[in-house]
Amino acid sequence: MLRLLINGLVVGLLTAGTSASGEAPSRVALKASRLIDGRSDKVLAPAVVLIEDGRITQVGTTLVIPTGTRVLDLGSVTLLPGLIDAHVHLTQVPENSGYQGLGVSLPREALYGAANALKTLFAGFTSARNVGAGGYSDVALRDAINADELVGPRLLVSGPALGITGGHCDENLLPPKFHYREEGVADGPWEARTRAREVIKYGADLVKVCASGGVLSKGDQPGAPQYSVEELRAIVEEAHRAGRKVAAHAHGTLSIKEAIRAGVDSIEHASLLDDEAISLAREHGTFFVMDIYNDDFILQQGAKMGMLPESIEKEKAIGKLQRESFSRAVRGGERMAFGTDAGVFQHGDNAKQFDIMVRYGMTPMQAIRAATVDAAELLGWKDRVGSIEVGKLADLIGVRGDPLKDVRALEDVGFVMKGGVVVKDTFQTVNGGS
Ligand SMILES: [Zn+2]
Repeated sequence: MLRLLINGLVVGLLTAGTSASGEAPSRVALKASRLIDGRSDKVLAPAVVLIEDGRITQVGTTLVIPTGTRVLDLGSVTLLPGLIDAHVHLTQVPENSGYQGLGVSLPREALYGAANALKTLFAGFTSARNVGAGGYSDVALRDAINADELVGPRLLVSGPALGITGGHCDENLLPPKFHYREEGVADGPWEARTRAREVIKYGADLVKVCASGGVLSKGDQPGAPQYSVEELRAIVEEAHRAGRKVAAHAHGTLSIKEAIRAGVDSIEHASLLDDEAISLAREHGTFFVMDIYNDDFILQQGAKMGMLPESIEKEKAIGKLQRESFSRAVRGGERMAFGTDAGVFQHGDNAKQFDIMVRYGMTPMQAIRAATVDAAELLGWKDRVGSIEVGKLADLIGVRGDPLKDVRALEDVGFVMKGGVVVKDTFQTVNGGS
C-alpha cells in the first residue's frame, strides 16, 4: 500500500491492482447510515454496498456479507455515486490568468494537470470532462491515469478547442509580430472539418468548439456569435461520424440557438437564455452545462489572478444574468449536467457550485442528479458510472451529514472510492473482515 501525504492528510492509497496485488480482498462491503443512489428519490437507510472486482454487485439495507469480504463501516455517513464535473480545465490554474499565462510551457501545463487531477478526485469527482487544453496535455493526462501512472478521475478530453481567428479560443494577447494563433483555430467549414478530424486523430474523446465570444478572452463579447452555422454544422457532422460528442461554448442567445440547431450535444455556459432557447434544447435533447459558481471567484479574486479589467467588466455584465438563466432553465425542465469551469477558479472547489444551484432553483436531489446520473448520460457513460447500481463501476463517495438537508455537505468529501479502490478516507473507517 502506498501512503501519500497530501495537504497534511495521510491518505491510504491502494494501487489499482488491489485484488491482483493480494494486498486486499477483491470483495469489499461498504456500510453507511444513508445512501443516495443517484436515480431514485428514496434514501436507503442504513445501507450496504457489496463490491467485487471493482464493480457493484449488491445494494441493500441489510445484506448477507460473504466470508472473506473486507468490510468498511463508514458509520454516520451518506454514500453517493462518485461525482462528475462535465466542464473542467485540469491543465490550467487561475494564477496563470491573463498575461501571466503566456509564460507557461506546455510541459508545465501537463504537470498542473497531474496535480489538479488528484485534487479533483479528492474532492469527490471520480469522473470529469476536460474541455480545452493545449498540446494535447489532457490526452496525455487521461492516458497516464488510465495506465495507473497517475491518480485522478476517469477523464474524457477534447484536446485543443476549435474556434475562429481572434475568437474566444484563439490567443489575442500578443501583437501581430509574434504571428501566434492557438492550435485549435480553424476558419471556414472545410478548415473546421479538418481541425475536428485532427483533434480526433490525436486522441480527443469529444470536440470542444467556441460558438460565441467569452469572458476571459481579449477583445470579444460573450453575447456575440463567433462560428457561423455552416462551420458549426461541419464540425458536428465530422465529430458525430467519428462517434464523438460536441461541446459548444456559447454565452449569447443567438449562438446558443445556432449551436443547438447545428446539433451539438451540450451548450457550455448557456448564459443568456430565452424561452425559445430552452425549448429548442429540450426538442433536440441538448444538455446545458452552466458554470454558475465561478462568478463569485472572478469578481472577488479575478483581478488578483491577472484577469484583464475587460474580463472583470464582462463577468459583471453576464454573471448575474447567467444565474437567472439557470433558474429559467430549471423551471423549463431542461436537462442539465453539472459543470464548473474549474481552472478558472481553484481545482478541488468544484462542489461549491451545488449551493449556488440550489439557491437558484434546483432541489438538492436535482443538483446531485446533475452531477451524477445526468452528467453520466452527457458523457455517454451511463452504462458504467453516475449511480450506485448493480453492474456499475464502484465509484462512490461519502460525506458527513445529509446533503439533501444541506447540499454544502458535498463540499467536504471524506471518503472516495474509484473502481472499488479506496483513494481517500478521512473518516478513520472501521476496517474489518467477514
Ligand atoms: Zn471552460
